[in-house]
Amino acid sequence: MNTPGTDFIPAAKPVIGDEEKRLVLEVLESGQLSLGQKTLAFEQGMADRVGVAYGRATSSGTAGLHLALRAAGVREGDQVITSPMSFIASANSVLFERAVPRFVDVDPVTFNLDVDAAADAITPKTKALLPVHIFGYPADTPALERHGLPIVEDACEAVGAIHADGTPVGGRGHSAVFAFYANKQIATGEGGMVVTSEQRVADLIASERNQGRAADMGWLDHDRLGFNYRMSELQAALGVAQLGRLDQMLADRAQVAAWYRAALADLADRGLGLPCADRGQERRGWFVFVVQVPDGTDRDDTIRALTADGIQCRPYLPPIHLFSFYRDLGYREGMFPVTERIGASSLALPFFPQMTQGQVEHVAARLRHHLLGH
Ligand SMILES: *Cc1c(COP(=O)(O)O)cnc(C)c1O
Repeated sequence: MNTPGTDFIPAAKPVIGDEEKRLVLEVLESGQLSLGQKTLAFEQGMADRVGVAYGRATSSGTAGLHLALRAAGVREGDQVITSPMSFIASANSVLFERAVPRFVDVDPVTFNLDVDAAADAITPKTKALLPVHIFGYPADTPALERHGLPIVEDACEAVGAIHADGTPVGGRGHSAVFAFYANKQIATGEGGMVVTSEQRVADLIASERNQGRAADMGWLDHDRLGFNYRMSELQAALGVAQLGRLDQMLADRAQVAAWYRAALADLADRGLGLPCADRGQERRGWFVFVVQVPDGTDRDDTIRALTADGIQCRPYLPPIHLFSFYRDLGYREGMFPVTERIGASSLALPFFPQMTQGQVEHVAARLRHHLLGH
């Protein structure tokens, strides 16, 4: 009954339509496969979308985070305050520069950086703050801004999110990084983008993603150390097409989330944790639908049972500070209890724009069966 291909429900699935195919084909026929008009159009489209002057496309969100931290002046031995409740790339990008990720725990409602804990953790060695808009919920960046430190926002899960004052996530002026891996709100296969209102940052990133080449120099002139963190025109073509359908995809994601909320309401009464509702004027940019199994339930057993039903789901997310090479920095169990509790009980249910109400109800029914036995 539940063989893959019949009623298998994937964890994520991009929306790829005629426009994506048309624009990718246009690139192929143009012969310009990198550093062309599609990259410029995608960059401008993302910058306009969040209301800042510059977008700089990169080969991945991780590459964008790395370059944004470098542009913020993060160097060996500096401390960067960030969240352990994230995908590992946000903290790794700090390690790339031999700087030190200084974790603080998260808010138990939003799962974003606890801004009071972040304030307490600031020392003379703190070079930057790296909040993560986890699961698409806007982090309290405005509260972090009063410290006057450089901020690099990990907005890799938060396309479409909005702060309480109406600013789109990524639109506050300092560097914010989006990502376009296949499961993100905008999917280009691989890819990322730094948005910023600072020309200095935009110019530096344009150079460092392209082997340290300055804009006015010849192809083989290099005036600084750089990387190859470029996005290809094929990816940018996908980005342009995806941007054109973004509002519809975000609305579809919000609809799927609303179906989940209704279908899981009775389980929520019995201890299942659901994503927090938007507080005040804050708006989540729906990325994943993550639930916490009730106390006393084994999360991994639940995942195994759903997987056997053909429902693809994942533990999401394991705390970063408990990975072996972060333990080498001195991090241990018990240091960030909120993150650890969320990390041990959370799973991401299938979630994508074209998911049907029937699929949502099927997932909810199977989850109910495994949690309650009926
Ligand atoms: C996806 C993601 C990234 C990294 O993006 P890649 O494009 O895969 O490098 C970074 N941080 C968070 C929170 C993410 O979800």
